[in-house]
Amino acid sequence: MKKGIVLFMITVSMLAACTGRKGGEAERGAEPFEYVVDRFADLQVLRYQAPGFEALSLNQKRLLYHLAEAGLMGRDILFDQNGRYNLLVRHTLEAVYREYGGDRECEQFKALETYLKRVWFSNGIHHHYAEEKFAPGFTPEYFAACLQAVGADHLPLSKGQTAEALTEELFPVLFDPAFMSRRTVQSGDRDLIQASANHYYAGGITQPEVEAFYAALKDPDDETPVSYGLNSRLVKQKDGTIVEKVWHVGGLYTEAIERIVKELEKAQAFAENESQRAVIGKLIDFYRTGDLRTYDEYAIQWVNDTISEVDFVNGFTETYGDPLGMKASWESTVNFINKEATKRTTIISDNAQWFEDHSPVSERFKKKEVKGVSAKVITVVALGGDCYPATPIGINLPNANWIRRDHGSKSVTIENITEAYDKASEGNGFNEEFAWSDTERELIRQYGFSTDNLHTDLHECLGHGSGIILPGVDPDALKAYSATLEEARADLFGLYYIADPKLVELGLVPNAEAHKAAYYEFMMNGLMTQLVRIEAGKDVEEAHMRNRQLIAAWVYEAGKAGNVVEWKVKEGKRYVVINDYAALRRLFGTLLAEVQRIRSEGDFEAGKRLVEDYAVKVDRELHAEVLARYAALHLSPYKGFVNPVMREVRNDRGEVTDIRLDYTEGYTEQMLRYSRDYSFLPVYND
Ligand code: ZN
Repeated sequence: MKKGIVLFMITVSMLAACTGRKGGEAERGAEPFEYVVDRFADLQVLRYQAPGFEALSLNQKRLLYHLAEAGLMGRDILFDQNGRYNLLVRHTLEAVYREYGGDRECEQFKALETYLKRVWFSNGIHHHYAEEKFAPGFTPEYFAACLQAVGADHLPLSKGQTAEALTEELFPVLFDPAFMSRRTVQSGDRDLIQASANHYYAGGITQPEVEAFYAALKDPDDETPVSYGLNSRLVKQKDGTIVEKVWHVGGLYTEAIERIVKELEKAQAFAENESQRAVIGKLIDFYRTGDLRTYDEYAIQWVNDTISEVDFVNGFTETYGDPLGMKASWESTVNFINKEATKRTTIISDNAQWFEDHSPVSERFKKKEVKGVSAKVITVVALGGDCYPATPIGINLPNANWIRRDHGSKSVTIENITEAYDKASEGNGFNEEFAWSDTERELIRQYGFSTDNLHTDLHECLGHGSGIILPGVDPDALKAYSATLEEARADLFGLYYIADPKLVELGLVPNAEAHKAAYYEFMMNGLMTQLVRIEAGKDVEEAHMRNRQLIAAWVYEAGKAGNVVEWKVKEGKRYVVINDYAALRRLFGTLLAEVQRIRSEGDFEAGKRLVEDYAVKVDRELHAEVLARYAALHLSPYKGFVNPVMREVRNDRGEVTDIRLDYTEGYTEQMLRYSRDYSFLPVYND
């Protein structure tokens, strides 16, 4: 038995990140806001706004401030989770960046700067999405010379270590492509633990050893199991014994966790109500003890708190980084409710039972009683850990299956992030290049932004929350394919319903045309344009991307006879054309029923076939064409965000009278400031 935590997670649908739209919503305020902050490698760094912050009460602002501080205190944790050398690499490169007095305009230095920016962005030396180690654009000789020039005083040397020894230690980490080549390996017939470079496991432990360790802890009859392994590293010691090193006060990462706790205590003083105070208190207990039962109690209290306007995620949360889906990366988001937009998600959650009852899946796999589904639209004011700088646009938590079953889940759509994506992509020429005709472009212009948000609402609030796992079925039965299939299930639920007449009736879409924008964008993205994120010659790896290709390729195949979706060529370029939107919806429904069956019955073989047949392989010719067309647009396929700076305003008696948001900090400035003010862990955490 393995446990069930991997299955419900952040969606990073990021359709908005890949699509360009003209027009859109009315401008907020008079002065233009600069959304784009920086650009390097395959990345663009944006800035988001937090409209409505000023109108919050001082108490709420101070609560947000301390939650945001708590969300920065843990920054180092994720670097170490992502790989044993990441903090050492970051500190070393920052020292060079700060102190190097030589030519800073030469190509080698520029390449080193870009590499450092990428390390900041990925919280480590591997690509945040593609999982592969970056190739430095500077030479080992140049790197060695920089360290020499900077000198021992500024470098993060261990006791007695010289600059030369540090250089030697870092050589394979930076320059040997075979050493720690992938952060996380999610598929293939090899030992996934040994193949992964992350720091969730250590001491040369093997996948069978990990599986045996946790199998021994699990009781198959336990209806409310803890999330085994969630907050620990599993280590094989020199004498061969296997131990969990738990992340808590007094344990691994204590230097950072103590700081998080202190800020949470400060936040607690400004809680909006008793239930929120209790939620924060329970989280503090969990950080102190590392006890996973306490974590579940916290998760239940958190999901039940639907009245507080300020909310947050802080902790070991998502398990994408662990090939076995147990170990959770540390993350933080701090937010407040967007009341106006939440009217939309309230309609959806109020009708959750209707959607469940009318879905095209077999009656056997439906929830008889949908419980505790809550959904809201939020405005984030601070992103941290695994939500920074690359961030989700929707979140659905908690992850534990039984908590979702017995207590429900909370879904959010982060609309100030989707808005920033949308605004930053205005007029970038993307749809002019890739959409088939003005008809599709006009649909996207009119309905793209609103149906994207709606699809995220449906995906998070209803999709992940729908359906049941049959009694006796191991929730982890789908193993490494579970994340992809779970995302497919949620996306398909959203796709199926976004075209339902019920949505027009509920006033969620203006008419029977609007869903076509979402359908077209989804198919264009899944069949073609998401390939801009993949290097030539590579396959699709990331779970959300696999999910989108799985769906698009499957419905394309299934609708071939009826010419539902078609490839057309114009002036030597390929385009996706949808001929029959109604038939496409039926195909989404058919696939949803099958994916739900696979999940409900734990049909590993069928799940594996779906993923391997449709989600992974890339048509090399099409890929080359898409990359060339995309390159001509000079856009960046991946995006992330800097946070606004939160400042306490004090009167002459030193009392805090306000919290202000400052939107002027640059990317490098912010990263260097965070490293200066929020770095508490030693470079090695063994
Ligand atoms: Zn999702």
